[in-house]
Amino acid sequence: MSSNESEKKALEILNHVRTSPTFDNKLSNDQKIEKIKSHFAEIMTVLGLDLTDDSLSETPKRMAKMYVNEVFSGLDHKNFPKITVIENKMQYDQMVCVQNIEVMSTCEHHFQPIDGFATIAYIPNQKVIGLSKLNRIVDYFCRRPQVQERLTKQIADCLEYILETKHVGVHINAKHYCVISRGIQDTHSTTTTSDLRGDFKAKSETRIEFLKQCRTQF
Ligand SMILES: [Zn+2]
Repeated sequence: MSSNESEKKALEILNHVRTSPTFDNKLSNDQKIEKIKSHFAEIMTVLGLDLTDDSLSETPKRMAKMYVNEVFSGLDHKNFPKITVIENKMQYDQMVCVQNIEVMSTCEHHFQPIDGFATIAYIPNQKVIGLSKLNRIVDYFCRRPQVQERLTKQIADCLEYILETKHVGVHINAKHYCVISRGIQDTHSTTTTSDLRGDFKAKSETRIEFLKQCRTQF
């Protein structure tokens, strides 16, 4: 696939995924980095940090590049992973389940890490997907400011569309550092969200088989 084709494909897929609250501000990535750098320097200055100190001087640039190129790279559809699905010639008709998928996202209310694990399963119809692509899809939607509920739904929307099957299960168990490092400062609590569709919702044996495989302990 040419880069133009894969960009079109990414946009088509993302059109079938519920949106994050974003808008197109027409800034290039370089412009974003320059602006964030100067605003972050301002925050540090307001906090009374000495930006001439050699330990701090590069922090605004580092933060800006980290936001745009790494932790929030999932805001840019060009970073959506290249997804290839193959025909289900083997006629596999049971659950495919991937456990312990790393979830490293950012809480959009406090810009603090959300750190946990996802379990993903589907029952194929005509299409199957390379297993590592499931990890890449999770990673893409994690790289946005998020709430765990939306993250869970976006992953499920994406899988349902790509795999052309209603039978999709997504389960996330995560720690929120805004709960750990501030506010209530509870270091032990975790949050579980799930989106069960098709047989995962309607058939109790499928639901139980899936939920038994979901990680709820750290
Ligand atoms: Zn938060």
